[in-house]
Amino acid sequence: MENKFQENLEFAKTLDQRDPLKDFRSRFHVKEEEIYMDGNSLGLSSHDAQASIKRVAKDWENEGIKIWGMEKGRYFNYPKLVGEKLAHLIGAEAKEIILNGSITTNLHQALATFYKPDQDRYKILVDELNFPTDIYAVKSLINLKGYTEDEALVTVTSKDGREILEEDIIEAMKDDVALILLPSVLYRSAQLINMEQITEEAHKRGIIIGWDLAHSIGAIPHNFKKIDPDFAVWCTYKYLNGGPGSVGGLYINRKHFTREAGLKGWFGNRDDRQFRLEHCFEQAEDAGGWLQGSPHMLSIAPLEGSLKIFEEAGIQRIREKSLIITEYLMFLAEKRLLKWGYKIGNPRENHRRGGHVSLEHEEAYRISLALRDHGVVPDYREPNVIRLAPVALYNTYEEVFRLVEILEKIAEEKIFQKYSLERGTVL
Ligand SMILES: *Cc1c(COP(=O)(O)O)cnc(C)c1O
Repeated sequence: MENKFQENLEFAKTLDQRDPLKDFRSRFHVKEEEIYMDGNSLGLSSHDAQASIKRVAKDWENEGIKIWGMEKGRYFNYPKLVGEKLAHLIGAEAKEIILNGSITTNLHQALATFYKPDQDRYKILVDELNFPTDIYAVKSLINLKGYTEDEALVTVTSKDGREILEEDIIEAMKDDVALILLPSVLYRSAQLINMEQITEEAHKRGIIIGWDLAHSIGAIPHNFKKIDPDFAVWCTYKYLNGGPGSVGGLYINRKHFTREAGLKGWFGNRDDRQFRLEHCFEQAEDAGGWLQGSPHMLSIAPLEGSLKIFEEAGIQRIREKSLIITEYLMFLAEKRLLKWGYKIGNPRENHRRGGHVSLEHEEAYRISLALRDHGVVPDYREPNVIRLAPVALYNTYEEVFRLVEILEKIAEEKIFQKYSLERGTVL
């Protein structure tokens, strides 16, 4: 790291000039007076996303009910049509992807489909650092099937509160485990779990495994052909910049197309049957079988526009820049921030870290309030983490340089002491 980077502003500007993705910044609604570091919670709006929202709004205005049939069913098939454009990001087949609901509802759908406990195998394996909603969904299904959490939930613990070790996950794969649900990247520490290794080990033991890609899709390429998981879920409002509350995604491995969807709905019918309106359900023969109700047109629309940018930029180049810009942030943090009580809480190795830097400080909460008043939009996670995501498509090296200057100033001059410790509802 020492030789690769320098500690001055000129160097940051040079990195920006050399950045092969630099032109994409102008596609987004970036405020020059603000340093937006929260693309891992809600990606920025783009001109492309705004245009596709306007197009759907206009088509509704002009067509009324006829919107469904226009352009050979463009909108009737919208969840699949836009879902297909995600396939290259995770190395899956278009037919294995649908857009519907949210991570939470797609998890309920996937668990209702794949969790079939019997006397011998009835446990679900999770990790203690996953996001709460994933755990709530798992617990709901365990209860629905008549078990208690004590009986059927296995939780892999973390030794340091930051990371979950692959060997500990494998160790917990006992004969009574029916299903595993894990995040690809841990939302607090940005640890990237070795999905290929874990999936292979699960399958060796006959265990179904699904991944939550919330913090990797759009930041890290996946090769699902190779990893071969059973299912996956994700949201589209984080790195995919689909907008607040944009539609969720569900991947069903093609080898499971013949399974019955756990939670059926009329949009899961074969296309040629749906409008016969018969009470007998004939499931579509691809991931479309897992659709439920009418497609969320207005929350798929911005994603359609946003995905154009990913097609042009390419997920490999996005990951390359993301690795360099986060490494640059860690380099500057080591030079200027460690002495003020900050710690780097994410793994350092490229193959073990996601798209954000997890900066820890015992005053993290009040520092993140002070950051806002200094024109930075960070993201705070209890109890002591400031998550900083310099996003490859729209953040610059100069912004990272300025961010570190501000972080140093807030700690050095103890500016955070002006703020109350009382917590608001969302930060
Ligand atoms: C962001 C996130 C969620 C959010 O779930 P929604 O149902 O989309 O609100 C769930 N799980 C993880 C791991 C997340 O990071």
